[in-house]
Amino acid sequence: MMIRRGAALLGELARGTLQLLYPPHCYLCGAPIEEGYICNDCYEGLPRIPLEGPLCVRCGAPLADPQADICGECANRPWFFDRARSFGLYEGGLAELVKGLKYRGERALAPLLARYLLEAGDFFKYTEALTFVPLSPLKLRERGFNQAELLAREMSKLTGLPTISTLVKVRETEDQTALSPAERLENVRGAFAPRGVARFSRIGLIDDVYTTGATAEECSRALKEGGYEEVYVLTVARAGGRQND
Ligand SMILES: [Zn+2]
Ligand SMILES: [Zn+2]
Repeated sequence: MMIRRGAALLGELARGTLQLLYPPHCYLCGAPIEEGYICNDCYEGLPRIPLEGPLCVRCGAPLADPQADICGECANRPWFFDRARSFGLYEGGLAELVKGLKYRGERALAPLLARYLLEAGDFFKYTEALTFVPLSPLKLRERGFNQAELLAREMSKLTGLPTISTLVKVRETEDQTALSPAERLENVRGAFAPRGVARFSRIGLIDDVYTTGATAEECSRALKEGGYEEVYVLTVARAGGRQND
């Protein structure tokens, strides 16, 4: 029992301090690597969403029909955001990397995931600044960092765009994971408010995961209330898979 617990603890420890071990090991499969955080095989195996599509022009959902250019949801509802894109699907190695940053506090994964954000589209060419989905003050104290802010700040280093804090979370929300799409929207409705006056007109909103779009939508609503004219949402991963229409 003690031995098993000891081994599990060692594994945890290795995960938590991977970048300090030498030689470095792939965060996902444990294979030795020369540099970076994941090996080539794991990188190649990430569930990318191909930029060449077919993708929904609005929300970036991968579409099954090669002739289609908008998903069923976007055809039927307006969004406050102008466009949303994600690097890949929230599954496999990509989900592990996102969870590593968010739940295991592996901040060293932020620069890696920021590079993936750059591969998810050229939206940063249109935007004048980057911002991020805020956490409530309580959540920020609990977690110690905001993963969306870390991603935005790493993207700033890569693009030269400033990261600015433009939103406040004005009330606590429930964890979205167990909620239905309709409940998610209700859960985040009115949860975000603009902070100060808009200093730019086109802004990129960074988050780790896009699921139903409810959080992106409410943040975009607040950004537009705050005076931003165009909002481009960029997330590392998209949950929910492929849209059939
Ligand atoms: Zn690997
Ligand atoms: Zn769509």
